[in-house]
Amino acid sequence: MLIDTYGRVATDLRVSLTDRCNLRCTYCMPEEGLQWLAKPDLLTDDEIVRLITLAVRDLGIDEVRFTGGEPLLRPGLPGIIERVAALTPRPRMSLTTNGIGLQRTAAALRDAGLDRVNVSLDTLRPEVFQALTRRKRHDDVLRGLEAARAAGLTPVKVNTVLMPGLNDDEAPDLLAWAIAHDYELRFIEQMPLDAQHGWKRDGMITAGDILTSLRTRFTLTAEDAEERGSAPAERWLVDGGPHRVGVIASVTRPFCRACDRTRLTADGQVRTCLFATEETDLRSALRSGAPDDEIARLWTTAMWGKKAGSGLDDPSFLQPERPMSAIGG
Ligand code: SAM
Ligand code: SF4
Repeated sequence: MLIDTYGRVATDLRVSLTDRCNLRCTYCMPEEGLQWLAKPDLLTDDEIVRLITLAVRDLGIDEVRFTGGEPLLRPGLPGIIERVAALTPRPRMSLTTNGIGLQRTAAALRDAGLDRVNVSLDTLRPEVFQALTRRKRHDDVLRGLEAARAAGLTPVKVNTVLMPGLNDDEAPDLLAWAIAHDYELRFIEQMPLDAQHGWKRDGMITAGDILTSLRTRFTLTAEDAEERGSAPAERWLVDGGPHRVGVIASVTRPFCRACDRTRLTADGQVRTCLFATEETDLRSALRSGAPDDEIARLWTTAMWGKKAGSGLDDPSFLQPERPMSAIGG
């Protein structure tokens, strides 16, 4: 098992498949993009499948989420999903994507064994989408979402980050739209994980702001804490249900005590937290011929060192060197 000194057990593995992306969301990366990882530094498809196999078979992982960068840019994605779906026990599998290209690939991904998708969409207004992502691809994302629902990659969840002065007036409209399309909307507080280090706590839209804005149009009833379990999103029933809305308040209402995640970067580093400043190099171990039990030992040792929390409220907090797109959000 992947257990830490606070008794938390990781069962949810987030795998970043690439640090590259076809959007340039302002809260994630600069307009000119980043220095991408070199191809030889990326884990190969076989290496990724070997690490996931070991994590599922020997370390108690029962849920695998593919992310990035933009995971749909990884050509081997359907093959990786197919091989992970063949594992015993078979883990649940989901994908976090910006939705571009999903229109073409949703059915094939479902056929390969993918269970669900989270699609990121911050606005219903094409011009605001362009300002936020620096690309004119709003329509592609909407079509990708529809294709995901049609392919049965449900429940389709939509991730939204609100940015002051850009889309912070859209929370109720986004919720009405999500309900009409049967998507489950989750707002994510902006975190200090952008490559440009532009995050400011006093400038961010908080969970409190989001709930106040939603309550101007909807009645929200908090879901039981028990139902939440280790999920990062706090959820509310909207107008008595059945639809729900979630808020992932990593900054103002951190959920570190219930965290059940471990992370693998596209270049084969294990991270125990988005905000970790230390990594454990599994790629070197793989490439030097280490057997599975040696790699499992490195992973369990890394987990044992997991910190109690993100440290965001600590005056000595330091933003991790890797930006969100290279960690895997
Ligand atoms: N490219 C894919 C996407 O956008 O869904 C997957 C990777 S992206 C890093 C994963 C999630 O992280 C997205 O929902 C995105 O909105 C969110 N994200 C990126 N930077 C963030 C930040 N600084 N604070 C909060 N969420 C962020
Ligand atoms: Fe790309 Fe996702 Fe980052 Fe936006 S949030 S730039 S889509 S990796």
